[in-house]
Amino acid sequence: MYWFLFDDADIILTADGHIPFSYMCPLPTTGEAQPLPPLNGEKAVAHHLASDADVCATGLQRQGLRASFYSLSDEEYRLAGKARELLFFDITHKFCSVCGAPMERASDISKRCTACGREIWPTLTVAIIVLIRKPHPSGRKDLEEVLLVHARNFVGRFYGLVAGFVETGESLEECLQREVMEETGLNISNIRYRASQPWPYPSGLMVGFFADYAGGDIRLQDEELSYGGWFTRDKMPEIPGKMSLARQLIDLWLQEE
Ligand SMILES: [Zn+2]
Repeated sequence: MYWFLFDDADIILTADGHIPFSYMCPLPTTGEAQPLPPLNGEKAVAHHLASDADVCATGLQRQGLRASFYSLSDEEYRLAGKARELLFFDITHKFCSVCGAPMERASDISKRCTACGREIWPTLTVAIIVLIRKPHPSGRKDLEEVLLVHARNFVGRFYGLVAGFVETGESLEECLQREVMEETGLNISNIRYRASQPWPYPSGLMVGFFADYAGGDIRLQDEELSYGGWFTRDKMPEIPGKMSLARQLIDLWLQEE
């Protein structure tokens, strides 16, 4: 059995940075086990760690879920994200929001009210992220530029992409146009979907696009962005780490050369 053990947003890993695999759970837990899809053909469950669990004594280690991306396999990391989202859903939906009665598990991914029968599933927060290209009039790829921004909430000095949350009643395309205009004052066109990524911090989905610059001068939204500018492929600043969708989109663009 694979054990996805969480202490809030931290995950418990083996000394070499993988998901613990054993017959018995290696640490005391609290609450019901959360069933997960199998990993490497073996059963997997997620659990909250009990408050008295002594991680060090077992030879295991505690790690932030984001940092675990760099030691877990892709499959382990994806399942760890799902485990975290389902555990978060469980602890934040103990009671029915309609009648106030306790909720119980209805399926591996849903809960049901014990009184009124209302069934609920985890809600995803959807965000868009967009790489804006400014093609050179000559068509030369080496002179094409990309818009990179430094957001005030970035930890570190790197430059990323414009991103924002989708609002109720808004299409992804409308969200892109609005966020780019609000944050940079630019118009965009030729919006193309490129990639998406679950973002379990705690329950997000990032949807990544390319778009072309279509007019306007950069006017940064001061509360959110501290710097933004156009960069060619040979003069790139520091960019985000490999786990982010921003980096995946930037790498896709760099490979177009
Ligand atoms: Zn109810």
